[in-house]
Amino acid sequence: MKATSFLIFAFVWLMLIGLSFYYQVEDDKKYANKIAYRQAEMFFEHIVLIRQWNALHGGVYVPVTEKSPPNPYLKMPERDLVTTEGKQLTMINPAYMTRQLAEMQEGRSGIQFHITSLNPLRAENKADEWETKALQAFNEGQTSYKELANIDEQPYFRYMAPLLLEPACLKCHNEPGQKAGDIRGGISVSIPSSSIDDLAAERLAWLKNSHLLVLAIGLMALLVAHWAQAKLSRRLSKAQSHLQLAYLDSLTLLPNRRYYDAFVRREWKRATRHHYPLSMIMIDIDFFKAYNDNLGHVEGDQCLRQVARTLRRYFRRSGDLIARYGGEEFCVVAACDSLQIIQLADILRMAVESMKLPHPDSKISPYVTISLGVATLIPRESVEFGDLLLHADRALYEAKNSGRNRVAKYTG
Ligand code: GH3
Ligand code: MG
Ligand code: MG
Repeated sequence: MKATSFLIFAFVWLMLIGLSFYYQVEDDKKYANKIAYRQAEMFFEHIVLIRQWNALHGGVYVPVTEKSPPNPYLKMPERDLVTTEGKQLTMINPAYMTRQLAEMQEGRSGIQFHITSLNPLRAENKADEWETKALQAFNEGQTSYKELANIDEQPYFRYMAPLLLEPACLKCHNEPGQKAGDIRGGISVSIPSSSIDDLAAERLAWLKNSHLLVLAIGLMALLVAHWAQAKLSRRLSKAQSHLQLAYLDSLTLLPNRRYYDAFVRREWKRATRHHYPLSMIMIDIDFFKAYNDNLGHVEGDQCLRQVARTLRRYFRRSGDLIARYGGEEFCVVAACDSLQIIQLADILRMAVESMKLPHPDSKISPYVTISLGVATLIPRESVEFGDLLLHADRALYEAKNSGRNRVAKYTG
């Protein structure tokens, strides 16, 4: 893994963890809201249940105390009673009871509830702005209303549902036109958002830590993978360069003789199996000793490199190969017949000559030239691959003897 790939993977991992964190936090917020509203709803249902119990008994009588004075809004003949012992009792109807419960609840757990309507008898029952919106929504058919809204600039999960006139209520609420199911008002329940802050903070810390842990584990795994791969590729390139050194001639960068021998043996076997001809060219630079003596060894090396570069351009096919055989000699093996190899040899000869590399001490040309010996054999069990080499060498000798800068074919 390259450094850039590592950085890309690390970035993608960071993004994934970031996204997961973001979505989980958002999801948690939604879930916390759901729970808060459900809590408010249950609170509301609980109050309604107590009110129903009260209405079931047509209200309950309690001793008159400072906390429970007679309800001035309750217009009924038997509102106040005196027991035979002279104890004063007063009627607590559902509305009065709800009010008392709301007062008791105030300041307890921060949860507030408020009985209210659009036309309250008592000023304290007047709906605030949010409750008015909710009550109007009930009149338009909505069955509950919930929203995160402020009370005294503090955020609350506010829930409100209508109070319906039930058959038991009709005993007292017997104004004309009233019937069971009518909306009498509503009870709003408000849960301070701060009451879930601690839970939310705890959950946020857990999410943060778990995501940081997963992020760190992922980055560590990436680092280990990066390190392991870097080590592996270092080993691989070392092995590759060893291999190259073993089979490559370091001066000309052509395959060396060792590689050439292995290659020829392989090709020889293949040609024997499939009965096709194998050809060889031995190449030798003319008067190279004189070149070295005149221009120096460094120039000689440079000349070898240039000749090698020119020759290798003609070898692209996988069955053909040119190698440095040693000194200023090169050899070629190709899976082709004698006509084709002579053509190739002549192309190579002309290619070197056309380089026009000055050779002041050559006896045959002002430029560097090569002589080439060509041989072809159809491999059989009875002949050896060394024979082909020998034939090509003989042909080269012939090319040298007959004037150099030419191609000679082994004639047997
Ligand atoms: P001919 O035309 O008959 O081939 O003559 P020649 O001078 O080329 O033949 P000879 O075999 O006498 O000389 C080969 C020379 O090649 C000898 C040596 O100085 C030179 N030579 C061999 N290997 C290298 C090399 O790696 N670098 C350099 N610069 N010269 C080399
Ligand atoms: Mg030689
Ligand atoms: Mg030579």
